[in-house]
Amino acid sequence: MDNCIFCKIIRKEIPKKFEYESETLVAFFDINPSADIHLLIVPKTHIGGVGDITSEHSVLLIEIYQVINKLVAENNLEDDLYRVVVNGGKAQHVPHLHFHLLGGRWKKMV
Ligand code: AMP
Ligand code: ZN
Repeated sequence: MDNCIFCKIIRKEIPKKFEYESETLVAFFDINPSADIHLLIVPKTHIGGVGDITSEHSVLLIEIYQVINKLVAENNLEDDLYRVVVNGGKAQHVPHLHFHLLGGRWKKMV
């Protein structure tokens, strides 16, 4: 998607340090964090949102949770509460499916 900010990040048109990258996924810190640790896990393929998920994405969804588990461990979040949040609907700010991983102290709802 030409004008999608997350697609631009994935194509490396916008510089961004990736905390994780595979053939299918990237993860990076949210630019406007809502918690001490606020990571975004983003599929490289442009999926608009939750409502666009189909059975074709079943392996990808497992991979997303495997990466979340890896990031939880790397950021020492397992001894406290962490949340995985996926926003949807027309008020979603970036219409490219992404999973928020929030840990530490919350500042506000994402
Ligand atoms: P939402 O689509 O409502 O789940 O929110 C999109 C999230 O992406 C927000 O938490 C933003 O702070 C975050 N975000 C937007 N642009 C960037 C960027 N260039 N780098 C990192 N995070 C971003
Ligand atoms: Zn996109």
